[in-house]
Amino acid sequence: MAGNKTFTMIKPDAYEAGNSGAIIKMIEEAGFKINAAKLTKLTAENAGAFYAVHKERPFYGDLVKYMSSGPIIAMILEKDNAVEDFRKLIGATNPAEAAEGTIRKMFAKSIEANAVHGSDSDENAAIEGSFFFAQTERF
Ligand code: ADP
Ligand code: MG
Repeated sequence: MAGNKTFTMIKPDAYEAGNSGAIIKMIEEAGFKINAAKLTKLTAENAGAFYAVHKERPFYGDLVKYMSSGPIIAMILEKDNAVEDFRKLIGATNPAEAAEGTIRKMFAKSIEANAVHGSDSDENAAIEGSFFFAQTERF
């Protein structure tokens, strides 16, 4: 059975552009409830650890630099079928390929600076949520 939690970050480009509020509004209107939220800034070391699965990809170095370049908003979100429904809401990694009406289509600047993160599995949603939040910070 699909889980009811996913993890997201509003990435530095979207935060810097002042799109956090609009993105959170879309998330809430799509039926997700915020279970935990935090404005923070990743160190290069933390960004590297978070994206460790991409270590061998050519874009890894730039991704780590970008993700530690400014504040992000980390959130755990709750909804039935959370992971799949959230990936649909954000759209494809490359905004040029993202469907109309998706968060990335509306707010992403490039394939790298693509406005939001969304977990790709229930297992990773749990790991990524724990990366940022203690049990006492979750509601
Ligand atoms: P997603 O975030 O859609 O799950 P991936 O897990 O494949 O995408 O990649 C993680 C992040 O790395 C992307 O959201 C994006 O910021 C960056 N990224 C992915 N592919 C590229 C690429 N070809 N060039 C530059 N950055 C990329
Ligand atoms: Mg991914």
